[in-house]
Amino acid sequence: MKRGTLLVVSGFSGAGKGTVLSKVLEKRTDLYYSVSFTTRAPRTGEQDGVNYHFVTREAFQERIDRGEFLEYAEYVGNFYGTSMAVIREKLDQGVDVILEIESQGAAKVRQKMPEAVSLFLVPPSFEELSRRLHGRGTDSEEVIQRRLATARKEAKELEHYDYIVINDTIENAVGEILAILVAEGCRKERRLELFKGV
Ligand code: 5GP
Repeated sequence: MKRGTLLVVSGFSGAGKGTVLSKVLEKRTDLYYSVSFTTRAPRTGEQDGVNYHFVTREAFQERIDRGEFLEYAEYVGNFYGTSMAVIREKLDQGVDVILEIESQGAAKVRQKMPEAVSLFLVPPSFEELSRRLHGRGTDSEEVIQRRLATARKEAKELEHYDYIVINDTIENAVGEILAILVAEGCRKERRLELFKGV
């Protein structure tokens, strides 16, 4: 059976990943969105088990010690990690999986699973990013400044991604991501076996 595509999605904090990915998932209900573990406190409206599995630092460390993470990273003072077991199972079942992770984690996934496809979501400009982070109204000015500093560092990682998706309008960004998934599904590696032995 064809293995699913592992799509790693990164993007500057404030680039609109959450909104864009939730629309992608509405259109492609067959996709599996991997829910990460984090030590960050929930933001207003976030639900445990839906947006993240919210855990203490101790519980996170126990999962590291048990070797449960495909990757994990520290980002702006909190830990974030992707559990390995479910992802492998879904890919083996032929299900496409989306991981929404930052760039250090993406680098680890590329190392461990070179077949992964990665994309980076960007706003049309850096000024727009700052405007969106302030507009969100969920983080203090200090946190916003740290997120912008992190974004500047992450910009250097862009070249390691397979695709760069521009979030000028949500519809365009969603369209580009859906197109990437379609194209990746058409790769010869996934289809050659259909005509093996003909
Ligand atoms: P936020 O706190 O805004 O939800 O997420 C902060 C950053 O952590 C985002 O760039 C997000 O993509 C990343 N992130 C979320 N889950 C994971 C994960 O499991 N692993 C890694 N490495 N990064 C993650």
